[in-house]
Amino acid sequence: MTISMDFLDKLGIRGDMDAVHTGTKSSGSRKHGVFESYSPVDGKLIGKIYKASKSDYDAVVKTSQQAFVEWRKIPAPQRGEIVRQIGNKLREYKEPLGKLVSYEMGKSLQEGLGEVQEMIDIADFAVGLARQLYGLTMHSERPSHRMYEQWHPLGVVGIISAFNFPVAVWSWNSLIAMVCGDVSIWKPSEKTPLSAVACFHIIKDVLAANKVPEGTLAMIVGDVAEVGEPMLADDRVPLVSATGSCRMGKRVAEVVGKRLGRSLLELGGNNAIILTENANLQLAAPGVVFGAVGTCGQRCTTTRRLIVHSSIYDKVKEMLLKAFGGLRIGSPLDEKNHVGPLIDKDAVKMMQAALMAAKDQGGKVIFGGEILDGFESGCYVRPAIVEAKNSMAVVQEETFAPILYLLKYDGSVEDAIKVQNDVKQGLSSSIFTDSLRQAEAFLAASGSDCGIANVNIGTSGAEIGGAFGGEKETGGGRESGSDSWKAYMRRQTNTINYSTHLPLAQGIKFDI
Ligand code: NAD
Repeated sequence: MTISMDFLDKLGIRGDMDAVHTGTKSSGSRKHGVFESYSPVDGKLIGKIYKASKSDYDAVVKTSQQAFVEWRKIPAPQRGEIVRQIGNKLREYKEPLGKLVSYEMGKSLQEGLGEVQEMIDIADFAVGLARQLYGLTMHSERPSHRMYEQWHPLGVVGIISAFNFPVAVWSWNSLIAMVCGDVSIWKPSEKTPLSAVACFHIIKDVLAANKVPEGTLAMIVGDVAEVGEPMLADDRVPLVSATGSCRMGKRVAEVVGKRLGRSLLELGGNNAIILTENANLQLAAPGVVFGAVGTCGQRCTTTRRLIVHSSIYDKVKEMLLKAFGGLRIGSPLDEKNHVGPLIDKDAVKMMQAALMAAKDQGGKVIFGGEILDGFESGCYVRPAIVEAKNSMAVVQEETFAPILYLLKYDGSVEDAIKVQNDVKQGLSSSIFTDSLRQAEAFLAASGSDCGIANVNIGTSGAEIGGAFGGEKETGGGRESGSDSWKAYMRRQTNTINYSTHLPLAQGIKFDI
């Protein structure tokens, strides 16, 4: 299939691009090498972007700090109006940006477009939110006193994002932070830097037309040592919102925690679907297969474990072998295909190593797993099904690839929930059952320990309206909808005395 590259022109992706974007301007040193972005779709070089230096990072923080002094003074509904215009720009560029996300990251075109739609949805959400940054009022215990709380912006928010959602995670963070009155600096993944630059090209005119202070929305592309680590240790950045592996999150928590800064962590998952003896398998089949192979197994919410009741195990196994056998693997830009490539050859190696480990640990690969010939990028694999035990070391880890572990359970739904919870991560979970009792047991306090628990829906593909995130080693952060905005603001409790006395709380007497 020949791919037309028109979308790159529409997005201004050409030449060697600057590493630092502060809104309408771009800059950055050109002495620290470049990131070359190769497409996993066809192995071709898409473009190059210079790497920023530590001094570029310092300069961008200073610019953003200055922007914050101005930006926090703008009334929140006016900030929301600018986000509304950003949302409209994203609508205009949905197709080319969706194509670039698909081409640079390797997810299907439908999912690339869906990712941009998520940005549009979050922009709409943020516009409404701009008029709803509510605080509570309380009754004071003292006469003629008024007590209430208000929410103020924090300042500079650092955003670190993963390769698999190259643009949406930025919008979840930065557009919400923007209406909250914060400014943000984004360090995108070094694996997908061009999708990040494209976002800044798209929003540039809106920022210029509204005279948004330079640095209110900023982006810097660079090595972890020059940009990432300095951001973690930087007192000028009160909140670091980091999306990525548990390993990275532990490092962020350690360094940011040491300076008593705030971190918002969105880390790895080890998500399971439970199929009880009462599951509607017709409903479950697409949920399981999409969850396991969608984005070639590279979603934080990918279904990695399928916990199946012994009474239906053989039927489910047969159903999966048939469904996996019918998967079409190939260019994600060709809408006929179900599965595209992994992000790079390292990811392919990691998948092979996990399959080897699974065999060594007593697992049985019953389908797929092989690297597919005939693709220039060398990144295409056949999704695998492995019969395994939950206690196996490899099953306990997140391998960012399409491997579905098939686990059998006997007994009650409580036994299945125990297996589901018996991993270190706690992101997404789901149960397929027509039994109300089983569904409620799964959702109860003694049920799933994950941040997301679904009934008769798979583990992946969350809507923006809910708070997104997970427990345990997934990091505990919540982003996107609901009241996640509170993470980007500081709460202030105010008590006003309009009496002529100064009574103390708790009735304490202090006369002078
Ligand atoms: P990664 O941890 O390798 O990298 C993520 C980001 O962290 C990159 O931008 C990287 O440069 C940066 N980084 C790494 N070390 C750093 C350090 N010491 N200081 C500062 N920055 C540092 O992850 P990845 O391979 O890009 O993405 C896949 C992982 O992300 C998976 O584990 C997946 O589950 C997770 N993820 C989680 C969510 C979620 O919302 N929970 C969403 C998407 C991806």
